[in-house]
This record gives sequence, C-alpha cells and structure tokens, in this order.
Amino acid sequence: MSTTLELLRKYSVPGPRYTSYPTAPYFHTGFGEGEWADALAAAAPDRGLSLYAHIPFCDSLCYYCGCNMVATRDYSKTEPYLAALDREMAATAARVDVSRPVRQLHWGGGTPTYLNPGDIRRLMAMMRQYFTLAADAEVSCEVDPRELTFEHLAALRESGFNRVSFGVQDMDPDVQQAVNRIQSEFLIRQVMDWSRELGFSSINLDLIVGLPKQTVESFNRTLERVVAWAPDRLAVFAYAHVPWLKKHQNLIQEADLPDAATRLGLQQAVNDALGAAGYVNIGLDHFARPEDELVRAQQNKTLWRNFQGYTTHKDCDILAFGASSISQTADVYMQNEKNLKRYQERVAATGFAVERGIKLTRDDQIRRDAITRVMCDLELDFAAFGREWDIAFGDYFAEALADLRPLADDGLVSISADRVSVTPSGRLFLRNIGMCFDRYLKEASGSTQPRYSRTA
Ligand code: SF4
Repeated sequence: MSTTLELLRKYSVPGPRYTSYPTAPYFHTGFGEGEWADALAAAAPDRGLSLYAHIPFCDSLCYYCGCNMVATRDYSKTEPYLAALDREMAATAARVDVSRPVRQLHWGGGTPTYLNPGDIRRLMAMMRQYFTLAADAEVSCEVDPRELTFEHLAALRESGFNRVSFGVQDMDPDVQQAVNRIQSEFLIRQVMDWSRELGFSSINLDLIVGLPKQTVESFNRTLERVVAWAPDRLAVFAYAHVPWLKKHQNLIQEADLPDAATRLGLQQAVNDALGAAGYVNIGLDHFARPEDELVRAQQNKTLWRNFQGYTTHKDCDILAFGASSISQTADVYMQNEKNLKRYQERVAATGFAVERGIKLTRDDQIRRDAITRVMCDLELDFAAFGREWDIAFGDYFAEALADLRPLADDGLVSISADRVSVTPSGRLFLRNIGMCFDRYLKEASGSTQPRYSRTA
C-alpha cells in the first residue's frame, strides 16, 4: 500500500472547501435586509466591484450537480426572473457608489447560456445600465456546450465577455451515461473553435474527478483530449457526493463511485498529464499556463479565494444577483433566497431577497486570512502575518499549531520557527490543513456539526 494512499484514507473526512470563512452553514437568518443595507452603505469607496449574476435554469439535470438550479424546458420562466434581476440590480445600485469600477463580472448557474442570444444581450445591457464596467474588466461566463449555438457565443462576445468556461467533466461514454451528461468530442471541439474564432482571450475547461464509472485508464483518455484542446486554464474539481443535501445525487449508484485508490490514481493522472503539458497547479484545484495572471498572483502572494474559486481581485466587493447568489463585502457575506419563486416574490416586494448572512468578527477575518494564505500561497509566514494583524502569531494560533503537529508528522506540512509550509504531498490535503485554523469546526465538533463533502 502506498503511503499517499494511507494518508488519503486517514485524511478523507468531511470538510469545507473554504470558498468563504466562516463557511456558508454559519450564515444565519438574523442577518437581514437592514444589515445588508448597512453593509452596502459602509463599503469602502476605494474598493472595486465584482458583479455576479446567477442564471439557475438548465435544460436537463446532471446527476452530480451541486448547484442551485432548475431543470426546465419552459423558457417562459426566464422572463419573470430577468425582471427580478433588473429590480434587484436597481435597488442595489441605489445603495452603492456606482462610479466604483467593476473589475470582474461573472455569470454562473445553472446555465447562463440557457438564455437565448437576445436575452444575453438584454441582461448585459441591464448590468451596464446600473454599473460602470472598467475597460480592462475580466468578464466571464459559464457555458454548457450542449444546446449552445454560435449565436449564443457571438452574443456573449458582442456584450463584452472576454472569457468563457466550459463544463467538460469527463469524455468517457460510460461516465457520461452514469451522470446523465452526454457530450461528444466533436461538440467540445466545435465550441472551442468558435470561442477562438470570436476572440475570447481565455478559455477555461472544468473537469471532475471522482465521478461514477471513472477509471484511471479512461480518465487518461479524457486528459489526452483536453491537453490537445489546449485551454488556457483548467479547474479540476473533486466530485462532492452529498446526497443528504442534493437528493438527485441518489441517482448515482454509490457502488459505481471510484474507491480511494482510484481517486488517488485519478488525481495523480491529472497532475502528471497537466504538469507534462506545462500547466502550473494553483492551490486546490486550478491549473494555468505559467504566464497566466493567476500563476503570477500566486508567486506575488496576491492570490485570493472566494465563491468563484481562485481570483486576483481580493480588493473587490462582490455584488451577486439572483436566487441563492452570495455577495461579499470586506466583512460581510450575504446569501439570497434560494427558492426561485420566493426570490422573485421578495425582490418584487422590496428589491432585495436577503435570506441569511454573517458579519465577520475580527477573529473571523484573521482566521479567514490565515486559511486563505494556506490555500493560495501554500505557506504562512508568522512574522509577516503577525505584523499585518498586530498579533503574536504563536500565541494567537497556539491551538492551530498544535493541531497541525500530526499533519507535520505525516509529512503534509513543515513547521519551522518562522513559518508553516505545505509540502508536495500536503497539496492534496489543503482543506485538512485549513481546518486546523477553523474555530467554528472546533466548536461544533459533535452532533451539530454541518456535514461537508469529503476532503480527499
Ligand atoms: S448544467 Fe451545470 S448547473 Fe445544470 S444540472 Fe448540469 S451541472 Fe448542474
């Protein structure tokens, strides 16, 4: 048995992905519209904006899906939803300084390209009407290659999108069948060609490891094709099997899920294939070309992590619109109502649909920074961190350092007098390392602990 496999078995426990800290289960309903209005009013004027629009509709259901989505063929559902987005943006824009530049704009879902080309143009016109897009803004959209036409992509490009992200997941027919997402090689190739023809400056492909029926051999064939398509970035997510949260995941046969040894083999296949093709592994799950700004940000220690994954835009407030979307200012997270109908009703009534949120304490902010440094920089410099937050690192994090000790004994981190560093074998276990700094997990250890997906 390999040592890494033993480690995988030992450290594969439920744990957060740390796209936020505190993590979403700790957002609470005591945070409402009044608190959100205060947060918007208090936002620092020198922070840029990052806009997010959630389009929840999909043509069909992928069984692994972990998103807030509605599978429907009834396009008429989009009309009241777009009207609600318009109203929510207008209400939000009335409470922020809209001369603050929008440095990043992203549409996710669901499937944003469920919208027809006319509605794609319309939604982007709405966003431009209320907010000020910087000339060099990063404007990106998640795209489902199935049901996509050249006209959809042309509408995105004309509207100012310069980045696209496609869900490829796995090209093996048995895996595609097992997760109800059938998409041919021809289809992906065509969408890649269209995107290049239209001049999108960055193409990202998403893959998933840990899907039912996946084998190392079959996934290597997927990786070969993906490398040949030469995307600019890749995100390789570990499938989060959480059927107690996402009932439709019960459609996946647990017996078909890869075991720990296969999952490890899949991860190694990814690292080998993408490394050999010249991609640099960034943190938990992203890969990019050496000249990519994400790689440069990691080298300069300016990389940050938020609900959209890794980003170079730490100093932006995220204003998120649509059902279930999560906004973020320097010290607040706010999540909208998830249910589509209730979201629309609440926005129609007040312009907002705040479901829950949290205002971060100073301790939350310190711990978020520590976890983020581990997830982004793969190390934590005690003196520099202590200066930044005006704390004695060793005293403040005495418990976390004690919790890290067994991980150091297992070779996942090295702890010296001045820093903790993630080792090459520790990269698979970044979530576990982050968990040592998480006060909420410690306090909830026991029956009330929220159930997360497994860390490895
Ligand atoms: S297309 Fe995306 S959001 Fe829609 S069901 Fe599939 S995985 Fe979920």
